[in-house]
Amino acid sequence: MKILLASSEVEPIAKTGGLADVCGTLPRELERLGHEVVVFLPAYRSVRRAPVPITATSVQLAVPVGSKLVTGRLLESRLPDSQVVVYLVENEPYFDRQQLYGENGSDYPDNCERFVFFCRAVLEAIRLLDLEIDLIHANDWQTALLPVYLKCELDATSPYENIPSLLTIHNLAYQGRFWHWDMLLTGLDWKYFNWRQMEFYGQLNLLKSGIAFADAINTVSPTYALEIQTSEQGYGLEGALQHRAGVLSGILNGIDTRAWNPRTDPHLSMNYDLENWREGKAKNKATLQQQMGLKVDPKIPLIGIVGRMASQKGWSLIMPVMQHWLATIDAQWVVLGTGQPEYESAVAALRNKHSDKLGINLSFSEPLAHLIEAGADLFLMPSQYEPCGLNQMYSMAYGTVPVVRRTGGLADTVVDTNDATLERGTANGFSFNAFLPQALEQSLARAVWTYQSKPDVWQRLVERGMTSDWSWSQSARKYAELYERTITLFRAERQHV
Ligand code: ADP
Repeated sequence: MKILLASSEVEPIAKTGGLADVCGTLPRELERLGHEVVVFLPAYRSVRRAPVPITATSVQLAVPVGSKLVTGRLLESRLPDSQVVVYLVENEPYFDRQQLYGENGSDYPDNCERFVFFCRAVLEAIRLLDLEIDLIHANDWQTALLPVYLKCELDATSPYENIPSLLTIHNLAYQGRFWHWDMLLTGLDWKYFNWRQMEFYGQLNLLKSGIAFADAINTVSPTYALEIQTSEQGYGLEGALQHRAGVLSGILNGIDTRAWNPRTDPHLSMNYDLENWREGKAKNKATLQQQMGLKVDPKIPLIGIVGRMASQKGWSLIMPVMQHWLATIDAQWVVLGTGQPEYESAVAALRNKHSDKLGINLSFSEPLAHLIEAGADLFLMPSQYEPCGLNQMYSMAYGTVPVVRRTGGLADTVVDTNDATLERGTANGFSFNAFLPQALEQSLARAVWTYQSKPDVWQRLVERGMTSDWSWSQSARKYAELYERTITLFRAERQHV
């Protein structure tokens, strides 16, 4: 198959979050499976610092945006260690800016216009480059107009335009909502501005538009695909998603096993694998305890937390439990994260009171994140919602047992420990349902009790996590299957028309 993947972020060229990881890794894995992938990305200012060579092409674009004809140019690059071609859509006024989407906490006011241009430029580039594309894979609201243009505007008899589309939702909280007059920028007929298609409570909603028109939709875990169809987690789009339930599925992200491998990780004080994890983890635990100013003690359970300090990550549960445990229970905590000031200051205050049991680092540190994954005994991730989540998979790959809330990708990767799951050999962590501190505390207590009193069970949990396949190759195979299904269905429907 020949796939066109369009995204507003692609690692290692432009990144603000997990979207970039998926769109940087998936194309390379698909190439390994024998598929051809071409990637499109805006040429932001930051691409000049990218660790890949970028060259100019002679391809000039001119596309309508509202009443203007806007010009641009294509640059070309490649994803590292691959033949995957990346086309960067250049338009300096739109993309030569300090950030990707906004500055100082405010979105750029012309974000709708910027991504209308980008989507139109991608479609125009197919024609100009004479690409034969079997499917267009759009990602999140920034590229969600691609399925809309394919269905509503283009000439279905043209080989360049008779293309099915898949829309991946990486986080439903971000939808690309704009005032209704931005509909004019899209150039689409006002008849599409209705509650079934592009309109959302009086506004233009780009993600909703993509949901309405894509041939297939997926999210980054099977459970999240179900959860977003409920009013609790649908952010108002549950109805639109229920309407497309027949073509909505979930595929878990993988982890980058080159960067996250305890055998080769350069950030660890000792590398280890399944054969010597006890020794390896003990060594890293001692280094971590030392670095964080905690007592160096191999026996005391060490609980690690890494991530954004946002409500989504369950800080309203973590704070009361941590406070209670620091005062009453002999366990150590290490926190690495930045985010909402109220959580940062609450953790800092606890650190002042319990510096013997709590180590904190309120910054972004890749090396420390790796050391925590290796040195902690338990990893805590009680998220309120979690489209996929990476940290729980890193933990398991490093033999660190996760304690998580059973939601989204956490529900799909962490299997709670009980008699039945132990018998089946599937147990790899601890999980709970209710978004309540008491539920977290119970799970954490079960985990610590198992760590201290059931070393044989603990060994099974650690080894189950370390031997599971969290790599991208599995996920890429599932994407290839989804592409194939979508193309077959699309072609079959066309034949009937
Ligand atoms: P999300 O994308 O919602 O933030 P994920 O678990 O999917 O959550 O991915 C978060 C990624 O960012 C992980 O790789 C995690 O280790 C990393 N990360 C988050 N905060 C920090 C930090 N303060 N220092 C280092 N890495 C961090």
